Amino acid sequence: MNERGAPETSSLDSSILSSTVTDLQERAYFFPEPPPTVKRGQMKTLDSSKYQVAPVRAGYTDRILQLDLSSLTTSITEVAPDFRRKYIGGRGYAMKMIWDGTTEETRYDSPENILVMASGPLGNEPRFPGTGKFVVGTISPLTETFVDSNIGGHFAPLLKMSGFDALAVHGISTEEVVVIVDGDEGTVTVTTAPSFGEEIDGGGLEYGEALLKEFTGGELTENVAAVTTGNGALHARFGIINSLFYDRRRRRIRSKQAGRGGTGTVMRVKGLRAVIVRSSLARVKANHPADKKSVQQAGAELKRVISQQDPKQLNLRAWGTPVLAEYMNKFHLLPVNNYQYGQHPDAPAVFADVFLERYFNKEVPDGCYMGCNLACAKGAEDVALTRGPQAGRKVGIDGPEYETLGAVTCQGIFDPHFIMEYNWYCDEYGLDTISMGVTAAFLMECFQRGYLSVEETGYDLSWGNIDAADRLLHETATGEGLGKICGQGVQRAKRWVAEKYGAKTNTPIDETMSELGKFGMEVKGLEFSLYITKESLAQQGGYGFSLKGPQHDEAWLIFIDQVHNEIPTFEMKADALKWFPLIRTWFNAVGLCKLPWIDVRHPEAAQTDNPSQNQPTLEYYAQYYGATIGENKSLQDILDDSERLHVLQKMINVRQGKGTREFDQIPLRDMAPAYFNEYQSRSDYYDDWLREQLGTDADLPESPEERHQTILNLRRQAYQRLCDVVYKAKGYTPEGVPLRKTLEKFDLLEEKAAALLQAHGV
Ligand code: SF4
Repeated sequence: MNERGAPETSSLDSSILSSTVTDLQERAYFFPEPPPTVKRGQMKTLDSSKYQVAPVRAGYTDRILQLDLSSLTTSITEVAPDFRRKYIGGRGYAMKMIWDGTTEETRYDSPENILVMASGPLGNEPRFPGTGKFVVGTISPLTETFVDSNIGGHFAPLLKMSGFDALAVHGISTEEVVVIVDGDEGTVTVTTAPSFGEEIDGGGLEYGEALLKEFTGGELTENVAAVTTGNGALHARFGIINSLFYDRRRRRIRSKQAGRGGTGTVMRVKGLRAVIVRSSLARVKANHPADKKSVQQAGAELKRVISQQDPKQLNLRAWGTPVLAEYMNKFHLLPVNNYQYGQHPDAPAVFADVFLERYFNKEVPDGCYMGCNLACAKGAEDVALTRGPQAGRKVGIDGPEYETLGAVTCQGIFDPHFIMEYNWYCDEYGLDTISMGVTAAFLMECFQRGYLSVEETGYDLSWGNIDAADRLLHETATGEGLGKICGQGVQRAKRWVAEKYGAKTNTPIDETMSELGKFGMEVKGLEFSLYITKESLAQQGGYGFSLKGPQHDEAWLIFIDQVHNEIPTFEMKADALKWFPLIRTWFNAVGLCKLPWIDVRHPEAAQTDNPSQNQPTLEYYAQYYGATIGENKSLQDILDDSERLHVLQKMINVRQGKGTREFDQIPLRDMAPAYFNEYQSRSDYYDDWLREQLGTDADLPESPEERHQTILNLRRQAYQRLCDVVYKAKGYTPEGVPLRKTLEKFDLLEEKAAALLQAHGV
């Protein structure tokens, strides 16, 4: 066994790997060296300034804290009413700052890249469920365009109470720093990042906890929170940001993650080790809504629906999101062996009842912010680590969410304890559980299909090999061995595999790339989240058109399309692909969690034209919004406001070279059984599907191979038709670029945008 507990397999061919690494460095696949770090010792103040804490009025402080790490200075921007009206908050603020403050030349590690953390006007209201969310937005190391990732916990509420709607981090520090925003004292302080010993300094969870204890003198309370990430974020493009908060019921620091797109990588590249916020103001009075009574009423209604309906529906309060695993497996949607199959006989080993029995506390509701009675953020105490550098320790683990579970089944592994350990190590290292698992699964499939051999990988990457999956995880965190490749994500790993394969077989690289493109599960450089979409055209579009890449938070249509069959026609699917991204963008702009809306159906929704939109619940949100900001807001107003943000994000993609039709194309495996073995695994189902499409038995091709090929052709055609229809509905050209009139409608046709359209012939 090696030091991490994984068996020693065939030794890594160091000459192959080192030549590979050199090649890759020359092509700038890898990061530049991280900024030189201080030899950590104590927290040494580098800059400190006093400010007057702005009060919150109608959900806003109208101030953004600007932090320039190149000069180690801070400043405050006052938000103009027009800016607030047009860009709302959260994701809207982040993308507007990126649109204005960066150019097409800006990369994730450019000093001018901005890391924005922003909540919105509806954040921080314990009288309404799900108000602890904020968005982290930046130029992504994976996609090289704007990415946003939402995250819970107490950080954003405390930041708002400290006088700021958002924090915008610019520049790059030459030494790692910690920033402290102290709303009680009215100070912003930049210090050197302290050391807590070698074992702790690299961690995302443990370093943050040590830092919070240092700051509070060991007296942890809910009035202090932090964001931080681990050293894995320095070695992988998919670094996360942990949001750490004190849970008084569990009496420990808990965490939520901004997982997608490498926001934690940007944080560490900037030299930002952590941000601490403190405010002791009472939360229940903190958001100062215009009409407190109406907020209270809307919140009470939504809480009532949750408490009555959730136990009869998904029962997230009891089970957490792992409850989805059973549904996914039943409907062939659980990713197994890199999304080849959607079901597995061993899947019941990772259903929610197993986690509930072995790890979760049934009696403790686990909310990620005050006032959320859906309380789906499950956690576990005293879980013994059996693998990795910390084997033998017992730790508290927050999770797993369904996505983390799916990232492990994607590697052919159905071991609940490994899922728990994978969850903890990814959080501690600062790695996205989704991108990590999907990239590992891609490399495993390359190994299975003969594109990689053990000489190149260093060990046997068979499906279900827990030792290999574990080793690859730790190597990715430290940037060693095959982990150095894995940390680059699927898009860049594809190229590496194609080059290795080409060198030994004389196969042209483009030819291999085309084959790898069938099962390399990424779009725009981001790895897919964990739903099989072969049989859901709606979710194929939900992934392909998603502006940040294939993450379901823009359009999670798999459940309503395939489990509930609520959007059966092509037109309904196309409509859903316009409507859902808009409403979901709004949630990310105002500072709200979507789960109380999307995962708990109002009993009256069934009587509406579109039950899946759950409009009776959305009425509570519209009431809450209007009562907070002091304006009447209809659902249509909300959709219009949101569409402006959606179009702006599309324009950022166009500017960064990721906004046209070719970047919305999805891997063959996302739309069909890409290989014959996938077709064979459900041949009766596929033959029935084909019969229905062709209309008669007589037209059904005779051989299974021909039937498979016909399915592939039909699925490709359907996706292209979907692109045409959805682009038209969104006001884009057939190439996926917004029309001038679309920008005019939302008052976005300024000089820079007009020039960009002109460059695209619009
Ligand atoms: S529903 Fe779950 S994720 Fe959303 S705010 Fe509540 S506890 Fe947090």
